[in-house]
This record gives sequence, C-alpha cells and structure tokens, in this order.
Amino acid sequence: MSILDENRKLKDQVSDLTRERDELKKLADVSADMEYVEDGGFYIRISERAVGKNIPYCPNCWKGGKGALNPLNPTHGEGYYECAEHKIGHQTSRYRQAMENINHGALTGDDDFGGEGWMAR
Ligand SMILES: [Zn+2]
Repeated sequence: MSILDENRKLKDQVSDLTRERDELKKLADVSADMEYVEDGGFYIRISERAVGKNIPYCPNCWKGGKGALNPLNPTHGEGYYECAEHKIGHQTSRYRQAMENINHGALTGDDDFGGEGWMAR
C-alpha cells in the first residue's frame, strides 16, 4: 500500500470518528436536557419548561437516551397522558385529584346534603 493510500484511509477513519463523536455529543446534549418527572412518570425537556412549554415525553420510547423522543398525547382531560405507541397511560396527581373530586362529589351528594347544606343530618 502506498503512503498516499494509507493517508487517505486514515483521513476516512478520522472523519468517521468525528461524525460518530458529533452524534454522541448531540445525544448527550439532549440527555442533559431531559428531566424525569415522578408525578406522572414521564420525561420533560428542561429547555422547553424554561420557555413555558410543558410537553411530557414517553419514558418507554426514550429508553434512557437510546430511543426516540415521543411526546405523550393528552387524553381524558387534564393531567392524563398516553403514548400512542405504547398505549400506556401516565396520570399526574393533578388528574388523580380531579378524579377524587368527582368521586367525592358523587358519594356525598350535592350541596343540599353536605355539612353546610340545609338538609345536613
Ligand atoms: Zn412510548
């Protein structure tokens, strides 16, 4: 193999490694931007929250940085999100609180029967 050939081969290797490094760096940048939210069990992007956007991302799609960044779809009203791919629901305490209020209301009846109502027993 001539010196020129060898030189070309080395240059190719360097550009391959550079590309690989850039991709890893990009992934690391995104990973550093992700924050796990216990309440709901999903990820958000710190940079998006900083500008007032609250987009939950599927932790099963994200795979700790090896997967894809898939936003969860809001369903069933406020605070409940679902991954279109995994069909796994993520409920936040906000959603549970709203459900509790509805159930509580159904059990104790309306204002007439409440502690403060005119029919209080
Ligand atoms: Zn998913």
